[in-house]
Amino acid sequence: MSDAKTPGDDSLIAQLAGKIPAQSAGVVIVDLQRLSDNWRALQSLVAPAKCAATVKADAYGLGVAEVVPALTAAGADTFFVATLDEAVGVRSLAPDATVFALNGIFPGTTAAVIETGVVPVLSSLPEVDEWGAAAPSRRHPLPCALHVDTGLNRLGLSAPEIQKLAANMHLLDRLDVKLVMSHLACADEPKNPKNAQQLSIFHRLQPLLPSVPLSLAASDGLMLGPDYHFDLVRPGYALYGGQALSDQTAPVKPVVEVYARVLQVRTLAPGQTIGYSASFAAERMMRVAVIAAGYADGYLRHLSTANTEQGGHVAFAGKLAPVAGRVSMDLITVDVTDLEDTPIERGDWAQIIGPDISIEDIGRASGTIGYEVLTRLSPRFTRVYTPASTRPQPEA
Ligand SMILES: *Cc1c(COP(=O)(O)O)cnc(C)c1O
Repeated sequence: MSDAKTPGDDSLIAQLAGKIPAQSAGVVIVDLQRLSDNWRALQSLVAPAKCAATVKADAYGLGVAEVVPALTAAGADTFFVATLDEAVGVRSLAPDATVFALNGIFPGTTAAVIETGVVPVLSSLPEVDEWGAAAPSRRHPLPCALHVDTGLNRLGLSAPEIQKLAANMHLLDRLDVKLVMSHLACADEPKNPKNAQQLSIFHRLQPLLPSVPLSLAASDGLMLGPDYHFDLVRPGYALYGGQALSDQTAPVKPVVEVYARVLQVRTLAPGQTIGYSASFAAERMMRVAVIAAGYADGYLRHLSTANTEQGGHVAFAGKLAPVAGRVSMDLITVDVTDLEDTPIERGDWAQIIGPDISIEDIGRASGTIGYEVLTRLSPRFTRVYTPASTRPQPEA
């Protein structure tokens, strides 16, 4: 039986047997080769535009310390993060790269930001004023990007602010504007007319802005076609194997697998209940596996079930087993009664995300999106990385 070729044998956990710390209750396995391949695939898809990498929120929970060097080795030299703290961390991992901080600068922090070498993305005239005033001289302008709003109404210079800037271009005298960017609201719905609207607004704004490289698209936007690529695209989710679009597939492969240990296998008689609030009662003889994953690990409590409700699933050897009862902080209980032919024992690994359960599957079951699933994976699960093989670099 142990040599049997089950659908689970090509999983990363099978390949990594022996490399996982014995005490780990759960593992997040990140395939750095797949990550590098994904970046290369997106780079060739958008060429001659350039592909940056968005690595905010600790590379969507996967760990910047490994992700940034792997992407740098693959050829990425431009990174986007949200906060200045994140940008400082990425700069230390990729000292030669350009690191854009999307959230810009806070009042009174310019001196500290200059020291970091981070390129802030400025989203309002007060930020433009403040960053310009901090430049030592016109001959030593400070690097920045400008974010213009085209309809998301989140960050970005508003239309009146852009008019004002265009009428007062001297506001940019002490700035070295590296990039003008905007962000799409509905790119995950390719047919949404808002995409074309934002594209046309972005074009209309160009004459009012400095002639520098342009960027509009993230993971889903770059799939809308070359019209949306401009000079630079900034995917995050797709690099990590995410498929943000409902009806189209990005040319990327899954990068992340998550497993947690079976702690016990119990037998329940009809009428016995499982877990907090006794929300689930056995209606037959049941075999239940207790697994070391809970909401503190990022297995969201929304995945709980009662007898009449659907929730989350885990998988063993390619077969799905539904969550039975409440998700608690450190544990879930899953119904493995119907997996009679699959031996499940204390210490075995249950697949949380992997070949049988995609990030999108678990996002949907949790009432959220794969992005949130990834970024909620907690540090309690050990990160394990499969190395990128050293391969010749693609043409620059
Ligand atoms: C998060 C973010 C990105 C990356 O988005 P993905 O959908 O993960 O590719 C790009 N640009 C901006 C402004 C962002 O906030």
